[in-house]
Amino acid sequence: MFKKILVANRGEIAVRVIRACKELSIPTVAVYSEGDTESLHRKLADESVCIGPAPSAKSYLVIDNIIDAAHQTGADAIHPGYGYLSENSQFARTCEQKGLVFIGPSAQTIDDSGDKINAKRLMHEAGVPLIPSSEGGVSTVEDAISIAFEIGFPVMIKASGGGGGRGIRICEDEASLREEFPVARSEARIACGNDEVFVEKCIVKPRHIEFQILADQHGNTIHLGERECSVQRRFQKLIEEAPSTALSPQLRAEMGRAAVAAAEAVNYCNAGTVEFLLDQDKNFYFIEINSRIQVEHPVTEMVTGLDLVKEQIRIAAGEALDYTYEDLPTRGWAIECRINAENPDFNFMPSPGTLATFHAPSGFGVRMDTHLYQGYALPIYYDSMIAKLITFGPTREAAIQTMRRALDELDVSPLKTTKSLHREIMDDDEFIHGNIHTGYILKFVPEEDDDDED
Ligand code: ADP
Ligand code: ADP
Ligand code: MG
Repeated sequence: MFKKILVANRGEIAVRVIRACKELSIPTVAVYSEGDTESLHRKLADESVCIGPAPSAKSYLVIDNIIDAAHQTGADAIHPGYGYLSENSQFARTCEQKGLVFIGPSAQTIDDSGDKINAKRLMHEAGVPLIPSSEGGVSTVEDAISIAFEIGFPVMIKASGGGGGRGIRICEDEASLREEFPVARSEARIACGNDEVFVEKCIVKPRHIEFQILADQHGNTIHLGERECSVQRRFQKLIEEAPSTALSPQLRAEMGRAAVAAAEAVNYCNAGTVEFLLDQDKNFYFIEINSRIQVEHPVTEMVTGLDLVKEQIRIAAGEALDYTYEDLPTRGWAIECRINAENPDFNFMPSPGTLATFHAPSGFGVRMDTHLYQGYALPIYYDSMIAKLITFGPTREAAIQTMRRALDELDVSPLKTTKSLHREIMDDDEFIHGNIHTGYILKFVPEEDDDDED
């Protein structure tokens, strides 16, 4: 096992990883920016190293500073969390070259799955169902139009290097494709540093269903069942749950097999996620592989009883998986609400500030993953997600009922958060009946405008 783990992240996920390390009796090193001197992850870690000024580009994204911090403190492994350098193959490669274990898949796997066009090509070879699309990148608007007529409108323009919902545009017809194509390319260039885009058929009112994967260094690849993440705003997840109301045991088994085949096609090792869309006729299609721990991993943990971060560490240390999904006593239902410091009544405008009050809901069936504490001043530099509220119950109804009372208990005043929106959704008939799709949120946010940038 590792002697010391450096956590190359901040916020709730850094806290999450440090907690897992503590339970494994592995000392931890936090890295933090000058904007994060008062952060919880720094306080909880055994040691901490400042890696630069507040803006992420000067601290959390600087590979050399993080590697230096690991050497300085004698860490022998690095956990990258999600976001930041977690899907940066250069970082994974540098760790390896500098004698550090990167707790995640190989640089080659990150490259193969991070590029959506390349991943689709590999999935085609592996026989995983795909959404009709251009065969590779599309560089002119005329090519985009001819492909769109071949596969049929509506279509999506997607950035090959996209992530976090960035670089995606829906086009209903030729006119909108003409208009959006250059915009999508420049957005891709800015957000992903690569302006390669492709055109894909737009699935109408799909559900987002993803499978958790674990794969070890001994050739065992398993899935841990699905998560449904159909409640999204601007292609970003707001609510996730496990299992999904949309899958029969047979469909779950079929999608699970496809997910394992997808992971094997990129020689996956460690924890990862294979994302699919499910259309209204229950056909499923691969969309992408996320080669890291996912924000919504807790819902899988609650229904499987497994600590996925500990599994990541065990796998990276060379231990073998000695169970399959079928062996696990999976039970109950888990739901996660992402609490963002944004004002849902004011176009989700970020709402930073200092926490005058902090009351975290607790009690039977409640888990909250957060880096907040009373008196904490939220820095303005980082992601607006401040907490993940997770509830668990024997049935979906029970998990929803617990979520209602947990949301009512949550107090982070004076911050404005997405709590009120979540509370409304928990009382909505369609949500209660599991009648959701990726456009469901528009019912609550009618003024939604894709062109309106954050
Ligand atoms: P998940 O699928 O795990 O829910 P998200 O797509 O919500 O993942 O992204 C997880 C985190 O990573 C978010 O904090 C998001 O801001 C960040 N992220 C994802 N892709 C990128 C990217 N290309 N550049 C910067 N941050 C990203
Ligand atoms: P990202 O890397 O930004 O997470 P994804 O390819 O995973 O991008 O897609 C994010 C979301 O965009 C999906 O969950 C879904 O809501 C929507 N989406 C992506 N591709 C399609 C498609 N072909 N048809 C309809 N919706 C799509
Ligand atoms: Mg995705």
